[in-house]
Amino acid sequence: MARKFKITITKKCPIKCDYCFVDKDNQVMDYKTAKAAIDFLLENGEKGKMILIFLYGGEPLLYPELMKRIIKYAFSRSKEIERDIFICIGTNGMLLTKEIITFFKKYDIGIALSLGGDKKTHDKFRHYANKKGTFDEVLLKLELLKKEMSPYRYYVAYCLHPEQVDRLYDNFVYLHSLGIRSFRIEWIYDLKRKWGKREVDIAVKNYIRIWKYVMKSIKGNEPIYLVNFMDFINSPELDEGGMHCKINTLEISPSGNISLSSFLNSSEKNVVGNVSDGLKKDLFACRATFENIDNQICHYCKNRHIKDISEIVENLGMIEDEFKKISERYLGQINSLGKEGDAYLANLQKYFPF
Ligand code: SF4
Repeated sequence: MARKFKITITKKCPIKCDYCFVDKDNQVMDYKTAKAAIDFLLENGEKGKMILIFLYGGEPLLYPELMKRIIKYAFSRSKEIERDIFICIGTNGMLLTKEIITFFKKYDIGIALSLGGDKKTHDKFRHYANKKGTFDEVLLKLELLKKEMSPYRYYVAYCLHPEQVDRLYDNFVYLHSLGIRSFRIEWIYDLKRKWGKREVDIAVKNYIRIWKYVMKSIKGNEPIYLVNFMDFINSPELDEGGMHCKINTLEISPSGNISLSSFLNSSEKNVVGNVSDGLKKDLFACRATFENIDNQICHYCKNRHIKDISEIVENLGMIEDEFKKISERYLGQINSLGKEGDAYLANLQKYFPF
């Protein structure tokens, strides 16, 4: 069963990024559904492992009081049943306040702040409906985060668009110069500009330069963490159908419906269950564990529930596979550093246990 759960608190968002895949239908999760979602994931999350809960949207900070109630309930319930959880908020940052950051700190919540790079790169795609860029506003909130939080409790979700891939390394260095120490590189799927071999090749060259830069930091006092590094290492292999089984992450929509992938955020037709009724009985005959996957059943699941997004998965898979190979190479280099490398990997897992 899954270990990671994404809870879409709302599909509303005050801004309008060009590549956003969220269907802004203004749905908001009610507290009763949110409680049922927490109960469901605590009950069904992979046994013996820390459960990771991502609260996101749309923009979850549009509903700070709802979010606080969900977080309080998740921690009180997880304590009662003795399950470890880690909660991370995915936000565009515009609505961060000192008060909500103080609350997050109390519960040791992680924050993923979306940024597209420097002002020019960011504002090209991440803007209001009237095309006014959001970079300047996000930067003010970044200053607030830097002042109030440990640099190892928040990270920049670096939104990498294929059109801007040649800026990847320079933007990374620029963001680091702003005081950011933790990054997650998130590649963007854009129907109008998909990933091709040329873009992937450029991304690979930039990613290798980033790793060289990161390796130098490991020996210093302020190491840089690539938060999705372990993701690459631990992710399941592609099967012969060319698609990852997404069973390690389930997405819960505002109505409580459960789907296999975040890309189904806007679609209710691909649901595999609901937090109130559980998973559909005719699915997961494999019992949804990686140890016991029956490929035939997997293909049935995929055909029924991921087929719609197979093109997205395959297109992003091009870059994901390359990043995975490079990450494995650098994992080898980190391991060869001995104690220094061990400490780096242990801290990465501790700060961002994804
Ligand atoms: S911040 Fe996120 S939810 Fe809002 S428009 Fe941009 S991509 Fe969509």
